[in-house]
Amino acid sequence: MADEKTIFEKIRDREIPADIVHEDDRCLCFRDISPQAPTHLLLVPKTVVPRLTAADESDRDLLGHLLLVSAEVARKEGFEESGYRVVINNGPDGGEEVPHLHLHLLAGRRLSWPPG
Ligand code: AMP
Repeated sequence: MADEKTIFEKIRDREIPADIVHEDDRCLCFRDISPQAPTHLLLVPKTVVPRLTAADESDRDLLGHLLLVSAEVARKEGFEESGYRVVINNGPDGGEEVPHLHLHLLAGRRLSWPPG
């Protein structure tokens, strides 16, 4: 159904629980339910942009905001110095499962490159 909420909207609306580490007027950051690193956070805009390739000029400020918040969260959560990786999975080959734009913030272990 076109009007069905994404899982991240349900978290935003407190219909399902999440371990939220940051919230402001434009985004929400919470722990991934299936962590791929000791720290695995999802940074999600409150308005639904399905994926990066669906974003347009009107999303410019929001996209910049998400990147700046990722650094703010890194400072608050204590992995600014050790480092972290920001991942956006876009479309089938990118591994996108939830059609609601989100940044993965992965930290707490040395991540390999190239990714699998
Ligand atoms: P992606 O594959 O980039 O679309 O990532 C979706 C992510 O959402 C996966 O890492 C899932 O583990 C995560 N996820 C799905 N449901 C939940 C949930 N209820 N709470 C937290 N993370 C979730």
